[in-house]
Amino acid sequence: MSMDYPSLAEAEARDAADPLRSWREYFTLPDGVVYLDGNSLGALPSATRDLMRDATEHQWGEGLIRSWNDADWIGAPRRIGDKIAGLIGAAPGEVIACDSVTVNLYKLMGAILAARPGHGKTILTESGNFPTDLHVAAGIAAQHNLVLDAAPREAIVERIGPDTALIVLTHVHYKSGERFDMAAIQALADAHSVPLIWDLSHSVGAVPLDMAADAARFAVGCGYKYLNGGPGAPAFLYVAGEALEFLGSPIQGWMGHAAPFAMTDAYAPAPGIERFLAGTPPMLSLLALEGGVDLMLAADRDALWTKSQALFDFLIQLMAVRCPELTPITPARADLRGSHASFVHPSAWPINRALIDAGVIGDFRAPDVLRLGLTPLYLGFVDVWMAVDRLAAILADGRWQRPEYTAPARVT
Ligand SMILES: *Cc1c(COP(=O)(O)O)cnc(C)c1O
Repeated sequence: MSMDYPSLAEAEARDAADPLRSWREYFTLPDGVVYLDGNSLGALPSATRDLMRDATEHQWGEGLIRSWNDADWIGAPRRIGDKIAGLIGAAPGEVIACDSVTVNLYKLMGAILAARPGHGKTILTESGNFPTDLHVAAGIAAQHNLVLDAAPREAIVERIGPDTALIVLTHVHYKSGERFDMAAIQALADAHSVPLIWDLSHSVGAVPLDMAADAARFAVGCGYKYLNGGPGAPAFLYVAGEALEFLGSPIQGWMGHAAPFAMTDAYAPAPGIERFLAGTPPMLSLLALEGGVDLMLAADRDALWTKSQALFDFLIQLMAVRCPELTPITPARADLRGSHASFVHPSAWPINRALIDAGVIGDFRAPDVLRLGLTPLYLGFVDVWMAVDRLAAILADGRWQRPEYTAPARVT
């Protein structure tokens, strides 16, 4: 006996009624591919190809070094930071686009700890957090003679106390998709006067964010996921206005100097958020990031989140009937999760490989998670329907058991 599930015609009807359906035209995606990995590497905005041509042929090729002034390359980290501020509910001057999430975490953690010596003994984070967040926190803890306290999600709240020097939490979990209640945890951290850094890598461009409303003071985030900034795109760093004056970057580079081209021996930090710059900004990557950010800024973000929820519910409904072997681990409640859906299966790795061969690109996260990203800017209901249809076929005929699908790969 088979349970009912939505038909392809129903998916088509929902796409036809989708107010965001035309946004897909702003992206270049390969024919025949359903892309469910925009939470890991966002798709290519078509305008970015033109931006890259202009950046290479004109700005670099013809402008040469003059473009630092003439094309305002030098202002790009702050200009793009101001745009990202508009996406996260921050003010202009509170965000800078630079470096990787890893390096930004290091700079921000180091800056906060140096500003508050002797406050607390531990750095509190979540066990099973994204590896780079844990690694950077462990390294910084050792440098500052602190202990890294990586606690399970359920225990985080009770662990905040007089011994806590700093908290670092990833807002939306990269694997499970679980989301922390930012306002509530921030209020708790504030009640204990403990600084809290939010990692927004899986949140920005995906779920509603309002740093000002939630009183969040410190954050970092990723440029190549939902912001569609391109592979290895620069990340960003956020410090709320009033907190900046106490902070200095532990990487005192010339680009974070108050007057880089005064070429002085002595370091003096830039008065604004630019003090968190280190070396020369990667212009080509920044300009590609700006293309993705501009596109995200132009979209109606409430409509995006509404559609994300609809796609999620549609996916879960289809999976429950057609792929019951895969167990969902992402919370069903929208306010408790991000914009991807994860499923557990002991053979998630070969299943995902077979799925990619069938034209559906999701990803695998060790040890047993199949992760499907829902990016409402360029995905529709038919995409989700096709993805589940192909996954069901793979599970039914068992082709994922072929040796070519079980072989390991360097990047998963
Ligand atoms: C993607 C991601 C990162 C990536 O860090 P990079 O240094 O930019 O490679 C870091 N933290 C989290 C939570 C992520 O999801």
